[in-house]
Amino acid sequence: MKIFVVNTGSSSLKYQLIEMNGEEVISKGLVERIGTEGSSMTYHVKGEKRKIEKTIPNHTDAIKLVFETLKEDRVLTDISEIDAVGHRVVHAGEKYSGSVLITEDVVNALDECSFFAPLHNPPNIKGIRACQEVMPDVPMVGVFDTAFHQTMPDYSYMYALPYELYEKYRVRRYGFHGTSHRYVSQVAMELLGKKESKIISCHLGNGASVCAVLNGKSIDTSMGHTPTGGLIMGTRCGDVDPALIPILENVEGLSAKQIDDIMNKKSGMLGVSGISNDFRDLENAFHEGNRRAKLALEMFDYRLKKFIGAYTIAMGGLDALVFTAGIGENDYETRYEACKGMEFMGLYLDVEKNKSVRGELAEISLPESKVKVYVIPTNEELMIARDTLEIVKSIQAVKA
Ligand code: AMP
Repeated sequence: MKIFVVNTGSSSLKYQLIEMNGEEVISKGLVERIGTEGSSMTYHVKGEKRKIEKTIPNHTDAIKLVFETLKEDRVLTDISEIDAVGHRVVHAGEKYSGSVLITEDVVNALDECSFFAPLHNPPNIKGIRACQEVMPDVPMVGVFDTAFHQTMPDYSYMYALPYELYEKYRVRRYGFHGTSHRYVSQVAMELLGKKESKIISCHLGNGASVCAVLNGKSIDTSMGHTPTGGLIMGTRCGDVDPALIPILENVEGLSAKQIDDIMNKKSGMLGVSGISNDFRDLENAFHEGNRRAKLALEMFDYRLKKFIGAYTIAMGGLDALVFTAGIGENDYETRYEACKGMEFMGLYLDVEKNKSVRGELAEISLPESKVKVYVIPTNEELMIARDTLEIVKSIQAVKA
């Protein structure tokens, strides 16, 4: 069975074509700058990386280009070989706690959730519409970033604002990176050999979040109503005192939109260091003695440790600490700092092993460590494809 996994942004479309028999990625690629000048498609096929530069006016044309290319490269003889499509969608509000078959009602519900994620849901819906246009008879499944966190208890997800704001606008913590946290925590449970477990998943990329996974379920996560909350990120501030917003309005004369821009695009590691949002640049600058790069890295590590501590207490212990995404998979210094001084709770990092691990699955705690520490490369596309396969199979079973 061949499943096409799609992740659309406002001007981009990322895809993977996965043969589920063996879970092999047959082709993957990225269409960029859709609808603007300089649009292109970069893709991997048969071990080679290739690039096509041409005008791509909209997402439907992007999908058409992907399939033309797959046919030219003889990866597919016809679009009809695609059995199902899995779509990554950022926000499903309180509507969906798992992946679902996409129907008109689902698209309408996701459209309503655009209120929560105005930058993400509309392009995700564009991607669904484009695929429906090109493959009208192929079943499609929506996999939501927020869904995994729908198991959080109310005392964990509610904000201490007037309750009417929750009733009127569903103002609450939703959490994001759910597909990644679900994937790596599943792998961690397999490595631990048990589902009854206390796991903290640290998805540390340009966007970053921590998730407390108790017995396979998310019970708390660091991102909030939006992906701006929680940890310090590449360009996002994470948690700040909310009363700063009216203060900034007054002292700097900024509008809500300008403050939003500052908090999402000019803050975080970039804002504090004044150098870069990329940890590689920051660590180079730190080793050259740059004071603000040092401060930004120390702030990041400290905030991360506080979340790990809080979630360990919330779960009443910890079996495994997992690192994933760009920083979590590659940056041994961040992993070292996060694990430093945790021997009191039975966490012993294998310092040498940690140094050697980059982008591969590995246990980086010492054998005697009660708390296991894992590096688990995330694979959201595979998770989307697995959900899609499961849903499509269950529909076929009902029809049979
Ligand atoms: P992601 O959003 O998961 O793609 O992660 C991107 C971020 O990972 C980059 O901005 C870097 O900060 C970080 N990163 C990627 N590779 C490395 C590396 N080798 N060492 C340190 N940080 C890295």
